[in-house]
Amino acid sequence: MAMGDPSYTSRTPRSRELFERARKVIPGGTSYSNRFFPPYPFYVSRARGSHIWDVDGNEYVDYWMVHWGAVFGHAYPPIVRAAVEQVEEGAHTGWSTEWEVKWAEAVGGWFEAERVKPANSGTEANMYAVRLAQAFTGRKKVAKVEGGWHGGFDRLQKAVSYPYDKPASLGLQRDRATVVIPFNDLDGAAKILKKERPACVLIEPMLGAAGAIPAEPEFLKGLRELCDGEGMLLIFDEVITGPRHPGGLQKLYGVKPDLTTLGKGFGGQYFAGAGGICGRAEVMDLLNHVERPKFWQRSFLGGTFVGNPLSMRVGYTFVRELEARKDVVYGHIDGLGEGVRRGLREVLEDHNFEAYVTGLGSLIGLHFTKEMPRDGRTAARTKDVKLCQRFFLHMLERGIAYLTPTSIHFAISTAHTKEEAEGLVMGLEAFLSGGEGVAPARP
Ligand code: PMP
Repeated sequence: MAMGDPSYTSRTPRSRELFERARKVIPGGTSYSNRFFPPYPFYVSRARGSHIWDVDGNEYVDYWMVHWGAVFGHAYPPIVRAAVEQVEEGAHTGWSTEWEVKWAEAVGGWFEAERVKPANSGTEANMYAVRLAQAFTGRKKVAKVEGGWHGGFDRLQKAVSYPYDKPASLGLQRDRATVVIPFNDLDGAAKILKKERPACVLIEPMLGAAGAIPAEPEFLKGLRELCDGEGMLLIFDEVITGPRHPGGLQKLYGVKPDLTTLGKGFGGQYFAGAGGICGRAEVMDLLNHVERPKFWQRSFLGGTFVGNPLSMRVGYTFVRELEARKDVVYGHIDGLGEGVRRGLREVLEDHNFEAYVTGLGSLIGLHFTKEMPRDGRTAARTKDVKLCQRFFLHMLERGIAYLTPTSIHFAISTAHTKEEAEGLVMGLEAFLSGGEGVAPARP
């Protein structure tokens, strides 16, 4: 099946029309480049539970799940109720509300963090966290991991996508103050960090966009020791992973960062205001404008939408639901995730087909590569991109949607059923069997 397959184009005429209109005013026709796929994306009109519907009425089981953020699926009633009530009571007034207090207590409780502040997005949370680390240590450099995605902030948009030596965007200054370390290679990272002595090491405990690749426990533990030894702060970007395990992946690994950055569900899932930072009081109190009344004595974090009650109330509801239903939530989503990873591996084995399955808990990566991905580089350098694209369309034809066409990831929510999750395994089985007219590219 080629991109632009007639069965897709024949059942998505309204999306095609929208795309034609969109591309005249929106560069590239979609609000975010990763929401596009050729020949044009479908435009969603409704979402509920694990399902989305496009403007032509096609229905899909969704595994993109708000950029992996919707742990409870779409339109989860307690979250919808919280949002609707808050819109009616005043979505945002620019004044402080009780919801920021409740949110901060709930998030602080989740991560066992002494201090918490909201920010507008994962990008902003990382931007401010890095600045805070610079303020705390008095150092200029920042270290990030090869393949790590932390949002579009200039200093962190470096070595994100393979090949890593290319600039991650037009218009970026060459930033020598951003140091890139390898993932899951403690010796390699240590060599660079000891030489460069940055203010902080910013890392996703499981690489997200680079392929749902978990850190090896010894790598994270080693980074913690290195940071302590060299006076650097360790920052975990748990924008994706924070709600995917009770207490975040830091709890699962037993490694406590100095700061944690948050986004997506923690900040309300739907709205601006979707982010935050939490961590050690000693560091976070550099944001304390009461104890540090002069602006030059403190580190800045703020903005019109920061802490708006709509985001805070929905974010609070999200954490409260996670806390209250912990056993059910993680029993369900982790169980489905495990089952899917096992099922996918069995299918690959049955077909003697070289591909790899990664992930943790409810997040899954499938890699058409010739080596087991242990970092962003190994997930990318032998990737069969065409095969990924064919698999994407094959799954779309079966009513299964995820992004992106060239990176196969599935995010499972509490709304997904066992049967739906099994659909992922059956989809791979059909693909490798040449089902639905799709012949495998490799035996
Ligand atoms: N960090 C990680 C790990 C992310 O996955 C993302 C977004 N996908 C961000 C930061 C940026 O968050 P936002 O899109 O809310 O700015």
